[in-house]
Amino acid sequence: RADLAMYQAKSAGRDTLRFYDPQMQAAVSERAALELDMRAGLAQGQFELYYQPQVDNGRITGAEALLRWRHPRDGFVSPAQFIPLAEESGLILPIGEWALQAACERLALWAQRPALAGLTLAVNVSPRQFHQSCFVPQVLAALARAGAEGSRLKLEMTEGLLLADVEDTIAKMSTLRSYGVGFSLDDFGTGYSSLAYLKRLPLTQLKIDQSFVRDVLTDPNDAAIARTVVALANSLGLDVIAEGVETEEQRAFLARNHCHSWQGYLLSKPIPAADFEQLVRDYNQG
Ligand code: C2E
Ligand code: MG
Ligand code: MG
Ligand code: MG
Repeated sequence: RADLAMYQAKSAGRDTLRFYDPQMQAAVSERAALELDMRAGLAQGQFELYYQPQVDNGRITGAEALLRWRHPRDGFVSPAQFIPLAEESGLILPIGEWALQAACERLALWAQRPALAGLTLAVNVSPRQFHQSCFVPQVLAALARAGAEGSRLKLEMTEGLLLADVEDTIAKMSTLRSYGVGFSLDDFGTGYSSLAYLKRLPLTQLKIDQSFVRDVLTDPNDAAIARTVVALANSLGLDVIAEGVETEEQRAFLARNHCHSWQGYLLSKPIPAADFEQLVRDYNQG
């Protein structure tokens, strides 16, 4: 590292080498400060769910819930910044539990509004959260406390999560599936899951990662991957949805290739609940 400051201290006739890296030191204390802020932020209600609409065959049929943290000094902190740190520190457990509960409460509210009653809500689940022994009861308790239907809830998991403890993963998923809960494999194609393994999991949906959608019109490899994921989903009897759809051309390409579900900036960024609910009413009417 170019910024590595090294100094030699001579003492007692011997050379000792010491390494001192001010940037690394700063990074460590910044992380520690962020962790403290996160803990306080959770207690003080600074976390919020935003909702990104998911379109299926021209109608909004659900949303993905995405965490937002409104830091009192720094403003919105990106999940890309705080989720990995929350994973490492274990704070993802209370944060994830909070998100799950908030999502179930939102689903219960929707159930009472005719225009919103059919919507599904997808919640991202971190590996650490999923692998807790109490994960299944935690989900069931969140549904029960809120009075929400399991069949409206989808859990988004990444391939990495599926690598550890296959039998336990399948057992947990199967139990939740028996309550109607769906499972979407997020960022699909960026991980390492084997096809044989994929077949064993009680998934309900594959999600084409946005990195393949981005250049789907110009990069033949990405186009091939997108088509392959659709074909794979079809042959496994799973739904398929594309994320990160930003242009009408990308949407049309996906539709031509039999992927009719999508989410992305083309329709909307993740937005607060009230804005999402208004959007559903406007978009789906008629
Ligand atoms: P993800 O689950 O793959 O979510 C998709 C990300 O792509 C979101 O970023 C979303 O805002 C963004 N996105 C949506 N449409 C578009 C588009 O058209 N173009 C582009 N360029 N981006 C788009 P976000 O909200 O910053 O979240 C980042 C990641 O943080 C998520 O990736 C997910 O892995 C994680 N995350 C967010 N909320 C939660 C949560 O409640 N729990 C856990 N464990 N992870 C979460
Ligand atoms: Mg997701
Ligand atoms: Mg994703
Ligand atoms: Mg992604």
